[in-house]
Amino acid sequence: MKEIEEFDIAVIGSGPGGYVAAIRSAQLGYKTALVEKYNTLGGTCTNVGCIPTKALLDTTHHYADAVKKFENHGIEFSDLRLNFEQVFKRKADVVTKNTQGLDFLMRKNKIKVLQGSGNFLNNESLKIKDKDQNEIVIRSKKFIIATGSKPATIPGVTIDKERIITSTEALTMKEKPDSMVIIGGGVIGVEMASIFNRMGTKVTILEYADNLIATMDHELGSTLTKILTKEGVEIKLSEAVYKAENLGNSAKVYFKNKEGAEQELTADYILVAVGRKPYVTNLGLENTNVELNGNGTINVNAMLETTVPNIYAIGDVIGGAMLAHKAEEEAVFVVETIHGQQPHLDYNRIPAVVYTWPEVASVGATEEELKKQGLAYNVGKFPFAVNARARAGMETDGFVKVLSDPKYGELLGVHIIGARAADLIAQAVVGLEYEVTAKDMASVCYAHPTYAEVLKEAYTIASGKASLNI
Ligand code: FAD
Ligand code: NAD
Repeated sequence: MKEIEEFDIAVIGSGPGGYVAAIRSAQLGYKTALVEKYNTLGGTCTNVGCIPTKALLDTTHHYADAVKKFENHGIEFSDLRLNFEQVFKRKADVVTKNTQGLDFLMRKNKIKVLQGSGNFLNNESLKIKDKDQNEIVIRSKKFIIATGSKPATIPGVTIDKERIITSTEALTMKEKPDSMVIIGGGVIGVEMASIFNRMGTKVTILEYADNLIATMDHELGSTLTKILTKEGVEIKLSEAVYKAENLGNSAKVYFKNKEGAEQELTADYILVAVGRKPYVTNLGLENTNVELNGNGTINVNAMLETTVPNIYAIGDVIGGAMLAHKAEEEAVFVVETIHGQQPHLDYNRIPAVVYTWPEVASVGATEEELKKQGLAYNVGKFPFAVNARARAGMETDGFVKVLSDPKYGELLGVHIIGARAADLIAQAVVGLEYEVTAKDMASVCYAHPTYAEVLKEAYTIASGKASLNI
């Protein structure tokens, strides 16, 4: 076993938490190591998460438009066909470009990338074993654990990666499935349903809650349910899956509703999308004084420091919203804290985006949360259907809902389902972060014709003024 030099900061895991932490650490002059057990950098997000799903969502969105909308636009063609192999090849190319970009950033910032699985020997040193079983030990003044998460499952459902699969296997399919049942109508469920439904797979979502994307403002999920149903996805709400079995060339899923009525469905594949669990396997935490919470996440304080002062943890492995941009914010927060700065991190201002079409995006409190807290609020709601740009682009589904404080006018929450919601939400985040009022958000000039004008109208109505357009 070879021991190499000591580092100032060693980061374990190269997802959006880990690689951002390593880059910020190097920028601030620390001697930095990044430990990653897989062959490519980028973690879940770059390899099997955000990036490949968005590549497939974009491709299938173009295809769906060609099938359903082009004729109306006056664009005619014959022989339209989806080349499944090319769809997945392009997705792989997009991933490769991103992982290569990370290799470049590591070289540019002189970060020592150590390929292999990191395993703590004690609070100060980490053993790294590569795929050829070679071992080295590093010491570091500070460690940042960013080991991410893995797909979770439910009792009675064993993921075999053949017929009972997760998003990871769905992203490397060799041919189009005829049918797919998705367990879970959360973010992964609806994004995967969109991809495969647009390609022509018969998709059924089984969701335990009474709504899709149930943690977001209720109206977003109920509107998305109508839109996906119209597009051909079968959605069964308030259904609890309790068993799944691999039948060889297909798989069967068993579920029951709240009254106990049992049903079963057979499909080519069962895709399990019931959440993700923190990943700390083979990390050697038992050799340290790092403690876990009851749900398996790493226990951290407000500075994201674990129960060991020199060991920090960020990203999916500490729980909260399992989002790439949340992991990135935490990465910068921890490194700048170590540097003695006073960085800022507000979990209430982290936007959530679902990349269906139309997109869904949200920041701040939902109407349900405000009701539960007994807080009064104003609602400003405006539909995309009467927006000129949306009509020109045939993108009239959805609405913007602004929730604001009735006394001072401060924004409390902004919820969008509509074309380009993922990008539109950015200005609402600024509004909430700097405690801007709905009136002020409405009083600035918005270019015409744009989708953003739907936001202006919703802010106007929330501030108590009448819209000029409805
Ligand atoms: P990860 O990205 O999971 O990275 C952890 C890394 O640590 C991995 O590379 C792993 O190999 C490595 N590792 C683990 N243990 C060790 C060890 N002992 N030694 C060395 N290396 C180790 N979020 C969004 O914000 N937007 C999206 O559009 C989005 N889409 C998603 C789509 C899918 C299908 C999935 C599954 C997730 C998606 N997410 C999305 C969530 C996002 O991917 C995660 O929140 C994010 O990747 C978490 O980053 P992380 O750095 O905490 O961990
Ligand atoms: P999720 O928590 O969003 O949804 C899981 C769903 O499964 C829930 O609605 C739950 O009610 C349902 N469920 C649980 N048990 C069930 C049962 N027995 N029968 C039927 N339904 C059941 O989790 P996910 O969709 O797996 O996503 C995992 C994580 O990945 C999320 O935290 C998400 O933030 C992240 N992610 C983010 C994006 C994005 O930002 N666009 C995309 C994909 C994934």
